[in-house]
Amino acid sequence: MTHWQNYHLARSIPDALQALTTAPGPARIVGGGTDLLLDLQQGRHPPVHTLVDVTAVPEMTVIEIRADRRDASAGRLYIGAGVTHSQIVASPFVAAHAQALIEACGLVGGPQVRNTATLGGNVAHALPAADGAIALLALNATVEIASPEGTRRAPLIDLYRGPGRSSLEPQRELLTGFYLPLRGGRQASAFRRVMRPQGVALPILNMACWLERIGDVISDVRIAIGPASPLPVRAKSAESTLRGKSPDSETLAAALAALLSEVHLRTSPHRATAEYRRHLCSVLLEDTLQSAWERA
Ligand SMILES: Cc1cc2nc3c(=O)[nH]c(=O)nc-3n(C[C@H](O)[C@H](O)[C@H](O)COP(=O)(O)OP(=O)(O)OC[C@H]3O[C@@H](n4cnc5c(N)ncnc54)[C@H](O)[C@@H]3O)c2cc1C
Repeated sequence: MTHWQNYHLARSIPDALQALTTAPGPARIVGGGTDLLLDLQQGRHPPVHTLVDVTAVPEMTVIEIRADRRDASAGRLYIGAGVTHSQIVASPFVAAHAQALIEACGLVGGPQVRNTATLGGNVAHALPAADGAIALLALNATVEIASPEGTRRAPLIDLYRGPGRSSLEPQRELLTGFYLPLRGGRQASAFRRVMRPQGVALPILNMACWLERIGDVISDVRIAIGPASPLPVRAKSAESTLRGKSPDSETLAAALAALLSEVHLRTSPHRATAEYRRHLCSVLLEDTLQSAWERA
């Protein structure tokens, strides 16, 4: 069975948009194809007419520091949506500014998947526990979206509509890249996850934490967790309990209670019970916070 009729290797963003919008049938962007091609082959995605490959678009395959368009003295870490997980793991820019993302991307699949799968595909597939997406959420990433009308930026969380559903219009929009704040003094991040021993794709639970430390106090913090609702979750109540406090056992217990009150953990037959996930919240919260705290 033919799952697509035309494969277009785009050379620029306008070229990709042109191929997407003028295809004579359903068209989809493809990055590494590690989700989409399996879904097509296994009948979870209806056949498409045109696949538009964005992994040779120069602007979508770079990792670099870019000037902030609103504040020329500030910069942002830019990661193209067509960058593979292996490229992220090897990037000195990501190592310097986004440790949680390095840790997340280094755990995705095995080497073959990491050499092929893109960060854009990890996010656009819109699963609430995608490892790269959870790290990006804690790192306060902004996404850049291109359409025939031009480009716009939006907070990452605005992309999500439900498990496997994003707000992107698949036949006329594409993710071009991600902007992350540069790491400041005494700021750091960390990512952890728990997989089933025989698991190959998504984790039982994952968590990323970014924090800023002033002396013995957490002055600011962001925590992201998945799968803890139909969308990736920013644990804002837990963050509030941590701000202005030292990460001692009393503060951690209060943060855990807040976290458990704002997540919706469920039992999934092939992965874990809700009860086990509640237990993992405590382990991952302590582990990610401690790791980021020591790094900061
Ligand atoms: C064996 C195996 C192990 C895996 N392990 C993990 C894991 O540990 N953790 C994890 O999070 N995931 C895992 N995955 C899932 C998958 O590899 C990742 O989500 C990967 O990042 C998807 O990227 P891709 O480039 O292959 O996406 P694709 O399959 O190319 O695309 C996925 C979806 O995103 C859309 N898309 C892709 N790029 C863009 C873009 N730039 N703009 C708009 N839409 C776009 C496509 O149209 C499609 O709907 C695994 C998959 C396999 C097969």
